[in-house]
Amino acid sequence: MANSERTTCLVVGGGPAGMVLGLLMARAGVAVTVLEKHGDFLRDFRGDTVHASTLTLLDELGLGDRFAAVPHRLLQRMQVQLDGGTAAVADMSRLPGAHQHIALVPQWDFLDLLADAAAEEPTFTLRRDAEVVGLLRDGERVTGVRYRDRTDGTEHELRADVTVACDGRGSAVRAAAGLVPRSFGTPMDVWWFRLPRREDDPAGGVARFSSGHFAVMIDRGDYWQMAYLIKKGSDAELRAAGIERFRARVAGLVPWVADRLDALASFDDVKLLDVRLERLRRWSTDGLLLIGDAAHAMSPVGGVGINLAVADAVAAARILAPALRSGGIVPESVLRRVRRRRWWPTAVVQGAQRIAHRVVFSSPPDVADAPRPGPVDAPAPDWLAPGESGSTDTAGLPLPLRLAARFPVLQALPARMVAIGPLPEHAPEWARRPPLAVRDAAAT
Ligand SMILES: Cc1cc2nc3c(=O)[nH]c(=O)nc-3n(C[C@H](O)[C@H](O)[C@H](O)COP(=O)(O)OP(=O)(O)OC[C@H]3O[C@@H](n4cnc5c(N)ncnc54)[C@H](O)[C@@H]3O)c2cc1C
Repeated sequence: MANSERTTCLVVGGGPAGMVLGLLMARAGVAVTVLEKHGDFLRDFRGDTVHASTLTLLDELGLGDRFAAVPHRLLQRMQVQLDGGTAAVADMSRLPGAHQHIALVPQWDFLDLLADAAAEEPTFTLRRDAEVVGLLRDGERVTGVRYRDRTDGTEHELRADVTVACDGRGSAVRAAAGLVPRSFGTPMDVWWFRLPRREDDPAGGVARFSSGHFAVMIDRGDYWQMAYLIKKGSDAELRAAGIERFRARVAGLVPWVADRLDALASFDDVKLLDVRLERLRRWSTDGLLLIGDAAHAMSPVGGVGINLAVADAVAAARILAPALRSGGIVPESVLRRVRRRRWWPTAVVQGAQRIAHRVVFSSPPDVADAPRPGPVDAPAPDWLAPGESGSTDTAGLPLPLRLAARFPVLQALPARMVAIGPLPEHAPEWARRPPLAVRDAAAT
């Protein structure tokens, strides 16, 4: 027999979208409950980026100094290592505003920071180990969810004025609502694994591309988080070829990590991440709104999905909080306003990702293909100095990269697209707080 409880705003999923929405709703004084199916935020494959626009949002929320205290690294330039040279593609030092970089921080630290800030608000509840398994309805209207407490297997009901699905690309809520996203298809999946990082390795991010082989390396301090692209559906075949073969591929592509590939003892150390690019036509039904990856699953290209999910959450809070505070039923016309605001920036970014899939990854490598050997030396530890335009010998690079090297101002546009996005959202007045240091000084 299920226990039944009630809240005003019910958020399913404690990822970037869900935690930002929970925090903002609580700051609006709305009773909000976030249900997260896991017991903690310690999952490996969430992405590590906190973009310039999200850093600005944290400042507006009075959380900038807390974020600064979390160990993180700053990425100011994005560069690609091709066979023909190293090319700068995005220069964040050209961004407007206080944050001219992307912060690289394990996402669990970012989510913990949001959860701690939200816990300071009396109307906020985070329930962990709470897996949503179905929807409650009153006629056509969604009135809450059924969830299972994963610690003891008991089932519960939670009713709400509005339910917001932030449960990611495999959204159980979306499936229960009968909503099917349009899939744009992707040519690749990702293998996700770690390699040790040495002190004299380059800092920040490294992208290495060679005749269809592509690896992205994310600097997590004492290790590299590696993302290696494989042809969609080729996982089983590649694994059958053996770990030795894979080590040789990585050594060929990035020779300066060859000395530490024994860290990959077996394929148990290599996770498959299924890449999807999808978007819902409707982001709401009566009583239910979907945002973040639940509404539009993002490809990892450009590493921008977290920023979009956060921006969706800010827009949703700005639109929903006044309606929920005034009481009564929130009509679907209000929920639809969230999609109206967030559809076009989402479509622009996904459009760019689709072009990248077609142009860059149109022919991911076959099992038998080997990459051309990459440079034996690691890129300089500090990469290119600010103001430098890229490889001195750009003749072997594709035209867009040659142009970006010749006219560095062109690196401002990709930097803006990735670090800020097409429509950054700012904290509503009612959610803003002074920085912690100012609050502490006022309290003494
Ligand atoms: C391989 C890969 C690498 C990526 N790297 C980056 C990157 O570096 N930077 C970037 O910006 N983006 C990256 N992305 C995209 C990014 O991960 C997503 O766009 C982003 O996480 C979406 O945030 P979200 O809050 O909507 O969903 P999610 O981050 O997926 O969060 C969903 C949450 O809901 C919870 N949940 C799921 N089902 C239930 C349920 N039934 N009940 C309760 N809770 C549930 C989950 O546990 C999770 O905590 C990457 C994507 C892939 C595939």
